[in-house]
Amino acid sequence: MLEAKCMIIKPLSIQPYQLMVESLLLRLPTHHSKHNFIVNAVGKERAGYYGEKKLMYPISKIDFSHDLLFQLRLPLNGAYFQMDSLVLTPRFLLIMEAKNYSDDVAFDSDFYRVVQKRGDEVRVYDDPVLQVEEQRYLLQVWMEMFNYPDIPIETLVVMTNPSFRPSGDSRYKEKIIPVNRLSSRLREISSQYSRQIISRKEISRLGHAFLDAHEPYVTYPDRRFGIVEHEWNKGVFCMECGRLGMRMMRMRWECNRCGSRSGDAHINAIKDRYLLVGPTLTNAEFREMTGVKSVYTASRMLGRENYNKYGKNKGRKHRLEYSYEKDFGYLEYLVKLYQDRQIKFKNKQINF
Ligand SMILES: [Zn+2]
Repeated sequence: MLEAKCMIIKPLSIQPYQLMVESLLLRLPTHHSKHNFIVNAVGKERAGYYGEKKLMYPISKIDFSHDLLFQLRLPLNGAYFQMDSLVLTPRFLLIMEAKNYSDDVAFDSDFYRVVQKRGDEVRVYDDPVLQVEEQRYLLQVWMEMFNYPDIPIETLVVMTNPSFRPSGDSRYKEKIIPVNRLSSRLREISSQYSRQIISRKEISRLGHAFLDAHEPYVTYPDRRFGIVEHEWNKGVFCMECGRLGMRMMRMRWECNRCGSRSGDAHINAIKDRYLLVGPTLTNAEFREMTGVKSVYTASRMLGRENYNKYGKNKGRKHRLEYSYEKDFGYLEYLVKLYQDRQIKFKNKQINF
């Protein structure tokens, strides 16, 4: 048997939308009327990401060569469609959708819905099989549009929560599987396709065409939730203790809760602003976000960062360019800090 090669063309990462809601939650006062709503939005994103992460291990055990893309969002006829993970092989493609349903879940294929029961609580979701079949159809249309060869597309819904107890339509048995059944199901699917339709090279080209066409969902609190800028707290977080509101003392940031110092703590605040407002920044906006008072100091600090500038004098704007995949690790760290010391930081609002 030939050695199985895996090429991850687009790795799993925390999506821009999740980064935005995580950052918003850290800065939104707990008494804000939409605070609970944002808590739920964050919870949903975390569960989704956690579920997708659980696919990684079984996928890493795939014993046939394949390329892999996670969280792909492709434009089609003015709209977008999204896939949790896409496996490419020269014989077939496979779309996998991860679901984190827990407890008793009944599949009702006559009405295309899923009913989850948790004690007295009942929730109704859209049918995930219908969802993944729709993705298959849209992917086919997309590939036809760009004249890619007709290659079979398989679909799977993977249940990632161990407490999941399915019932209902048995027609769904091969389409909806628990995550511990994934490795064997992948082998079964692979054994059904022996004919090579696209060469290895073409598969790699197709994978990169998907990557080039990918457009992440980027939005901001005002647009998405009607939460405008002055409703969330500005300021620089202390990465040692999590306090919001470090002060600038002799060109260094100082935390007056834990005493820690930093030369570049403001960078994370700028990144937060990138997530919450957008990619442009004026000197005044920098001062408002960080609490730096002097125009001159702000200008010096901005000058160090190599941002592209355009416009003149007061209207001068800096164009922020950050990578959603690489530049937001501080946010994960901060979220964990808050989770670990939850009680201590219940009241996080701090004024300059
Ligand atoms: Zn501190």
